[in-house]
Amino acid sequence: MENIRIPRIMKETSKRHLHNGKTIGFVPTMGALHEGHLSLVKRAKSENDIVVVSIFVNPAQFGPKEDFDRYPRDMEGDMEKLKREGADILFMPDARAMYPDGFSSYITVKDLSDKLCGVFRPGHFTGVATVVCKLFNIVKPVAAYFGQKDFQQAAIIKRMVEDLNMDVDLIICPTFREPDGLAMSSRNVYLSHEERRAAAVIYKTLLSASQMIKSGESNPVDVRKQMHDTLEAEPLISEIQYAGVYDTNTLDELNEFKKQNLLAVAVKIGSTRLIDNMIVEF
Ligand code: AMP
Repeated sequence: MENIRIPRIMKETSKRHLHNGKTIGFVPTMGALHEGHLSLVKRAKSENDIVVVSIFVNPAQFGPKEDFDRYPRDMEGDMEKLKREGADILFMPDARAMYPDGFSSYITVKDLSDKLCGVFRPGHFTGVATVVCKLFNIVKPVAAYFGQKDFQQAAIIKRMVEDLNMDVDLIICPTFREPDGLAMSSRNVYLSHEERRAAAVIYKTLLSASQMIKSGESNPVDVRKQMHDTLEAEPLISEIQYAGVYDTNTLDELNEFKKQNLLAVAVKIGSTRLIDNMIVEF
């Protein structure tokens, strides 16, 4: 596996591969890789000649009171895992190279960025859209792989790619889960033993809401209530930021079911913020 740190070198390397008629599949990450990330790498590997994985803990997407400084980092372990998966190139730029002095261009995807997580993380999705656009311009992938776990992020990037006529296919991959259903996340390492056990309630909430819908419940408001009741019954949940049924296109809360419905949850367990979602289709 080739390690590249300098954006200019990454650009030149990609150009060379494109010139030689190779397809580039790209998996952007913030590192501390787990099986969820690796499932994206596997998919990219099966569909492209060259797989580029980036590891960049993007300062622009963290709020001043968020966990940028203590975000888990495991460069050695990540490199081992990526080599094992057969990734071709690891791109890990440093923040100065991505945001040099004088940097002043940001991408804001309006509306979608202000909903759900956007309410609690102002500016977060501008940081995400900006870095993903930069990474696309540097890596030049034909296809980029994202996880459904971050449904809103994927929706925002899809909007950006459409709105700005970018030439990249977005492939959204299923959420990889622990045996008890907890969605894998780099942030799960923040959880104490007790909190980790309690975190299973998030998947339980999504599952019972989806079963409620499938067994004929006709009112999303009742589903939302059941979701809140289930989450509130877990004493280690310190805050429910949102839990309910949303439109998969607009991310607005639904008053009646559609063909596709997004069940989504964001909670804090102790000080750790966790999100998860599930799509229910008729
Ligand atoms: P992150 O390192 O958290 O920025 O995630 C990098 C990519 O991996 C994003 O597209 C995430 O949606 C995706 N991802 C994170 N967790 C999972 C998971 N449990 N299953 C599938 N994809 C995931």
